[in-house]
Formats: sequence, structure tokens, C-alpha cells
Amino acid sequence: MAAGESSTTKAETGIVLGFLEEAESWQLQSSQFPSKVGGKPAWLSQLDLPGPKQLECETCHQPLAFLLQVYAPIVGQDRSFHRTLFIFCCKTPTCYSHNDNRCFKVFRSQLPRRNDFYPYDPPPDESTGENENDSDVLQSGVKLCRVCGCFGPKSCSRCHIANYCSKEHQVIDWKAGHKTECGGNGTSNPAGSVKHGFLFPESELVTEPEELPEKEHPLGADEAQTNLDCSSSAADALQEEELEEMAMHETEENKVFQKFKERTAPEPHQVLRYCRRGSPLWVSAKGIPNTEAIPRCPCGAKRIFEFQVMPQLLNHLEADSPQASIDWGTLAVYTCEDSCDQGHRYSPEFIWKQDFTGEQPAL
Ligand SMILES: [Zn+2]
Ligand SMILES: [Zn+2]
Ligand SMILES: [Zn+2]
Ligand SMILES: [Zn+2]
Repeated sequence: MAAGESSTTKAETGIVLGFLEEAESWQLQSSQFPSKVGGKPAWLSQLDLPGPKQLECETCHQPLAFLLQVYAPIVGQDRSFHRTLFIFCCKTPTCYSHNDNRCFKVFRSQLPRRNDFYPYDPPPDESTGENENDSDVLQSGVKLCRVCGCFGPKSCSRCHIANYCSKEHQVIDWKAGHKTECGGNGTSNPAGSVKHGFLFPESELVTEPEELPEKEHPLGADEAQTNLDCSSSAADALQEEELEEMAMHETEENKVFQKFKERTAPEPHQVLRYCRRGSPLWVSAKGIPNTEAIPRCPCGAKRIFEFQVMPQLLNHLEADSPQASIDWGTLAVYTCEDSCDQGHRYSPEFIWKQDFTGEQPAL
């Protein structure tokens, strides 16, 4: 994704874009601190994983599937030296009602540089020969569900080796082959070989700064300037007011969508836009949360925008399963402004789903 030679000057916007790339499986292991989409989660903290109840869809009560994780340390804050945000989503298409976020969960995990799980120095940039991803047990001894890779406190009553998060996933695994491989007391084949079809296709998420040609900048010159400073909340407030006003006019709806299309056109494959303290690029003037709609962190601090997931990601998710019709316009993730210390725990954060309105043509 190297920026090509260009005669026009380009300006960085302060926003970091995420793209999908093929990777070797060792590169996506926890010890490499990856950002990735699909497969099983590469847990950061190896203890106190979110429990099955926390990873249940609030609508259909089925276990959620791991969608993606973003490695996003906060420079200069030791408690966030390692920091990863995890998104999970329901796979039942009917749970995706308009502008409704109940089929998603987000968790934040963070660790200081000196911690119980990882060396002080960065990991080697090569495979160590071990593949943590295929293991059903974390180094800390925490058992993982062999279907979804989340905390699996239940185990098969015959072999006591296969672990599950839920009855649902035990059934999926039984049908997918555990029925024949379960050798009774103490024997069972590893889960790595079994295909359950539950996980999304796995890819690395690589990032690069957003650059826009200065001459053909789709925004006004003033706005381009404010976007260079991602943390300018005054600019955000102004933009929200602007959007409020726009929402009052039916015909203005198209302007928001037009802006979305123009802004993403130079990099049409972006699946993520990261800008902590920035503001999301909305797909519609409708379904934009006001400040009261974003709950504070239990620590008392407010939550700020951190990144958004783009609709382009859906194309990748559906590649392996044509029947999947889960949907969103954009997913905006808001996290604790202090990125407060919760020890080894995974702290729930907030996600907002905004859908396209019926009037908009599909991308
Ligand atoms: Zn559901
Ligand atoms: Zn599971
Ligand atoms: Zn068994
Ligand atoms: Zn907090």
C-alpha cells in the first residue's frame, strides 16, 4: 500500500486508515500484538477474558463471533503500553435492525510494558515455530472454546479435553466431527483440523496515514486544516452542529452521503478509519448519536470516539459465506477518555451502529 509517486502534493489528515492484507498465521498471534479481522481473537491479557454471558447477543442470545481487533497503544501512558480493542458481532442477520447496536460488543484490554504475559522487549519479527492460535488453552491455563476461541469454561463430558463457551458451540463441534474424534476419557484430536464455518475469514489489518491531494481536496480549505489536528474537539462540535442543521433538511441527507463517498473514494478499500478524539465520517445525517447517547465509562470518565469500521469490510466477510447478510453503514467505537486501568480485565466499551437510509444507493 505504499503511496505512489505523484506530482500533486498530498497532505496527511491525521486519520489512520486500515486495510486488509494476507498474513502468515504466526504474525497474527497474541505475542505479535496484531491488528486483524476474523479467525479467533488474539487475546492480549491472558486472564479474565470476557465470559460467555458478556459475549452473548442481546437480541437472540447466541454467542457472538469475533469480528476484529485493533492494536492501539497510547503513547506516553505506561498503563496503555500494550492496548487492544476487540469487536464481536452476532451472525444472525435478523438481529441487525436499523441503527441498533445490540448485536455488537466491544472490549478494551491493556497492559503496561512490564507485565505478566509478554517480554519487555518487542517480539522477534519471525516465526518461533509455535502456533499459539491452534491451542485450546492459553499459557495462563485459561481454556478456550474450540469453535470461537473465546473463554470456554464447559468441557465435553466424555473426553474432558474439548472446551466450549456454550451448549450451542458444543453442538456445532459435535456435528462438525467431534462425534467421531472424541475418544472418550482423556483422548481427543486437536481442534485445529476441524472446520466449523463459524469464524470470519482471517486477515491482517495494516494501517497507513490518510493522505488527500491538496489540490483536489474534497473538503473546504478550512476543514482540511482542522482535520490535521485530530484532537480538536471544537472542530468536532462545530461539525456536529453543522450536521444537526443538515438533518433538518431532507435534501441535505444526500450531502452527508456524498461527503462520505468523496472522502473514501481515493482509498476505496479502507475498512477502518482510526482517529482517537476525532469524529466519525458518518454515512447519513440520520442516526448520529448526541453526547448523552454515549454512556460514560464506569470509572466516571467520558468516552471519546476512537475509530470506525467501514461498510467495505462486509465484502470481505461475505467472501466465504454467500448467505451472510449482516449489515451496517458504519460502526463507531467510543472508548474511555482516560483509558482507565482495569488490571487484567477486559473493559466493555461502546459501539454505535449507523445504517444507510433507504434512499441511498448501495456502495
Ligand atoms: Zn443475535
Ligand atoms: Zn464458543
Ligand atoms: Zn469429547
Ligand atoms: Zn474508564
